[in-house]
Amino acid sequence: RDLFLGKRYETTAAASDASSSPPAEKYEYQAEVSRLMDLIVNSLYSNKEVFLRELISNASDALDKLRFLSVTEPELLKDAVEFDIRIQADKENGIITITDTGIGMTKQELVDCLGTIAQSGTAKFLKALKDSKDSGGDNLIGQFGVGFYSAFLVSDRVVVSTKSPKSNKQYVWEGEANASSYTIREETDPENLIPRGTRLTLYLKRDDKGFAHPERVQKLVKNYSQFVSFPIYTWQEKG
Ligand code: ADP
Ligand code: MG
Repeated sequence: RDLFLGKRYETTAAASDASSSPPAEKYEYQAEVSRLMDLIVNSLYSNKEVFLRELISNASDALDKLRFLSVTEPELLKDAVEFDIRIQADKENGIITITDTGIGMTKQELVDCLGTIAQSGTAKFLKALKDSKDSGGDNLIGQFGVGFYSAFLVSDRVVVSTKSPKSNKQYVWEGEANASSYTIREETDPENLIPRGTRLTLYLKRDDKGFAHPERVQKLVKNYSQFVSFPIYTWQEKG
């Protein structure tokens, strides 16, 4: 509903030598996640645009969590930044970026949340899949939602850069559509630091690059934003 034409986040960190950045560590997905990823990546599910609803809802949840926690822990807001969601669509390169200034994730939370199935919706999905004859799971994807992993309905590669006020370190999770493992590394490049929250970068599949058209993103956002109590800014190319 809103247009955002401003500048990117400014970084505040002191310059550091990018070549000295810590190496990426490799993690295996929990078996259920691998199965789920397989289903999502190979699914013929046609209503792929639900990925944006899922990711906006995660951003909104993260902002809600921060708002709630900050009532008793006001120091969490010391890096004063607005509570908002920003979505940028780069149609030339087929990339969508979704940034929120919510609670973020620690390294441990990245492993727990984006490598295992802890959450209710996705667990229900797998249970329903087991009980059903719909071995492809196509109908169930829409019915239960597959949360974060729905990013892989449209993406070859997903990068999650996140900073929790609990640890004050920024970590980068990277996953690919046909892989059984993902990586986590610490972000130390001042160019890429965010003040707070989470930035998801979706590298769209060749056939899904159309989702990175700003008009398309704006239309979808308009549909979903009525359920979100934080401003959602979309970037628009200057005409
Ligand atoms: P659900 O939202 O039902 O818990 P998801 O698969 O959508 O399941 O997300 C899994 C978990 O990953 C969330 O519960 C949350 O802890 C974490 N998460 C996902 N996206 C974000 C985000 N933008 N900011 C902070 N945490 C997130
Ligand atoms: Mg979710």
